[in-house]
Amino acid sequence: MPKPVLLKCVLCGREYEPEADRYLCDACGIDGTLDVIYDIGEAKKKVDRDILSRNKDFTMWRYRDILPVADEKHIPPLAAGWTPLYKNQKLAETYGVKELFIKDDGRNPTASFKDRASAVGVAKALDFGQAIVACASTGNAASSLSGFAAVTGLKSFIFVPENAPAAKVTQLLIYGANVVLVRGDYADAFRLASAAIERFGWYNRNCAINPYLVEGKKTCAMEIAEQMGWMVPDRVFISVGDGCCISGLYKGFCDMMDLGLTDRMPKITGVQAKGASPIYEAIIKGDPRVTFGRAETIADSISVGAPRNWAKALRAVRATGGAAVAVTDDEILSAITELARASGVFGEPAGAAAFAGFRRMAKDGLLGADERVAVIVTGNGLKDIDGARHAAGTPLRCSADIVEFESLMKNTSL
Ligand SMILES: *Cc1c(COP(=O)(O)O)cnc(C)c1O
Ligand SMILES: [Zn+2]
Repeated sequence: MPKPVLLKCVLCGREYEPEADRYLCDACGIDGTLDVIYDIGEAKKKVDRDILSRNKDFTMWRYRDILPVADEKHIPPLAAGWTPLYKNQKLAETYGVKELFIKDDGRNPTASFKDRASAVGVAKALDFGQAIVACASTGNAASSLSGFAAVTGLKSFIFVPENAPAAKVTQLLIYGANVVLVRGDYADAFRLASAAIERFGWYNRNCAINPYLVEGKKTCAMEIAEQMGWMVPDRVFISVGDGCCISGLYKGFCDMMDLGLTDRMPKITGVQAKGASPIYEAIIKGDPRVTFGRAETIADSISVGAPRNWAKALRAVRATGGAAVAVTDDEILSAITELARASGVFGEPAGAAAFAGFRRMAKDGLLGADERVAVIVTGNGLKDIDGARHAAGTPLRCSADIVEFESLMKNTSL
């Protein structure tokens, strides 16, 4: 497996040795997140279309020769990645694009996109000989890390806002994580986690800090290209909170170009909730930096007012000629039902938000009739049913009595 050659600051370009405690650029501080750079010439010998076509590892680790793990033994035995990509011609026609693909990342082992990052996170913790991993999270990064810590025998400390959805907190506890519910919001959880990690010397799984985690997330882009027969879609929609998933997509599409697997980039399009949209604001205004603001949306996974990976997120959109879209909570709720009914994919609010963004741009006439579009559903709907319940409607109620049922049927529109 490849050793990353160096880590390079996204803002100033300074380069660093890939050492265990190297998370950020000294000159740029917390904003200076790092890109993982490989010896592409070496990687090319092991990663090409032919070799991949014979590869029987249907997990994200089929791309291990362009992932930053030193020791194969540290790859966790929990199958992340290679989630289904569904072509949906009905929705493509409804919204006037040539083709629409839905990537169901809720099909990962702990039911979100975050598993791609956690898989690499725990492998790196083992590479570096660490015994305890920690993170702050709106919920999914936490449940994901606790699952991967469980199968690798690492201890985990997880900091989540006290109002994190019950399903996600239960998931953490089930996996045996040490869970800290932090009074306040995600920004508060992030602050305490950072201080605790520093104080106790734990391995940091915060995706916007640890450069290796975005590497895990890039495998989603590689899968989309490979599943489409190495055709890169014209545009990809993904929801944005901290900005790590969208940065992972960008890195994946870049690495594939460098490796000669593909020959173009998609327009990467970030979707935010109107109530938590600092990345969207910066893109619309053309600002060089993101101004932190409030975070209020039912989509808890993207309820982020202070996105930590803003620099990489802005780059992903700008360097690909992509766009940013903001959608209301109502649009997200109706996207959950429409997506589920048209494709069978039940996304959590932040997952269906990407589809809501696609719909918004289509309705606004901003997508071309010849575009081939991929929408990434980042989390499974059962993760957070409170929002979905509002959108779902109500069931019929009846005694176990066929006569009562018959009269009920007469009064329904079925
Ligand atoms: C974390 C998460 C996101 C947003 O990812 P960021 O890297 O924070 O931008 C979107 N959807 C789901 C389901 C998530 O868990
Ligand atoms: Zn820097």
